[in-house]
Amino acid sequence: MDLTAQLHELGVRPFDSTLTLSSSKGERFAQGKPGGVLLVHTSFSRVGPVEDGPQGLIAALRAAVGPAATLVMPSMSDDDDHPFDPEKSACAGMGVVANTFWKLPGVLRSNSPHAFAAAGRHAVAITAPHPLDVPHGLNSPVGRVYELDGQILLLGVGHDTDTTIHLAETMAGVRYRRPKYAVVLSDGKTARCDYSEIDHCCQNFNLVDAWLDEGQRQRRGIVGHAEARLMRSRDVVEVVLDRLRKDETVFLHPLGVDIECDEARASLALYGNEA
Ligand SMILES: [Zn+2]
Repeated sequence: MDLTAQLHELGVRPFDSTLTLSSSKGERFAQGKPGGVLLVHTSFSRVGPVEDGPQGLIAALRAAVGPAATLVMPSMSDDDDHPFDPEKSACAGMGVVANTFWKLPGVLRSNSPHAFAAAGRHAVAITAPHPLDVPHGLNSPVGRVYELDGQILLLGVGHDTDTTIHLAETMAGVRYRRPKYAVVLSDGKTARCDYSEIDHCCQNFNLVDAWLDEGQRQRRGIVGHAEARLMRSRDVVEVVLDRLRKDETVFLHPLGVDIECDEARASLALYGNEA
């Protein structure tokens, strides 16, 4: 089975089609609609080898969603010390597929160190300016994918890479933060911009797997050589909001496991018990 067929099998459908799957479990994923949005997080080393490498995988994704859809990938730089340039800054940390995607003709990229890249009908809206100091709120590419009722495809990666969970944390109003900075261009001069971001080691985002599986809200399959998961952005946000309402620190490791979660917990202490 080729990649496109595997993606179809998983439930990635041309968004202008009226195809329906025969299994009832697949029904909610099969409702392709014009202008659909697919946000892809992937690790090529898990998916490949495939024909034509990363470009072959991107071509298969585009073929699977069809011309009426919008394909989105993370595109954030790893470089806090130089101004972000949407035409030049690499996003190697996002993997070779993401770092190939933004360079392709017709692909737009937002102008932010927290950039996403998009191609298709909603690409302009998804890559419109977004604030530096709230990287993954409703007014950001992942927020716009959520508003557009987009789907998320995890290809060879787990929910620990799923930026939409940061969106849910932002919507939930969690109070933990970690100090961050970026160097930006302002009136032709570079300036350091300090801000705090909802962040931690993100390993426990993998808890979301079970939360989604419980309600049959994600489909699993194989694409290339990798495990793949497909779900609605809205389902991720809904299950995460539900858990965060019950326990704000559900994603944070206990003290002493890793420095990121320790920092996030320490930031909570700043707020005392006022919650
Ligand atoms: Zn941690």
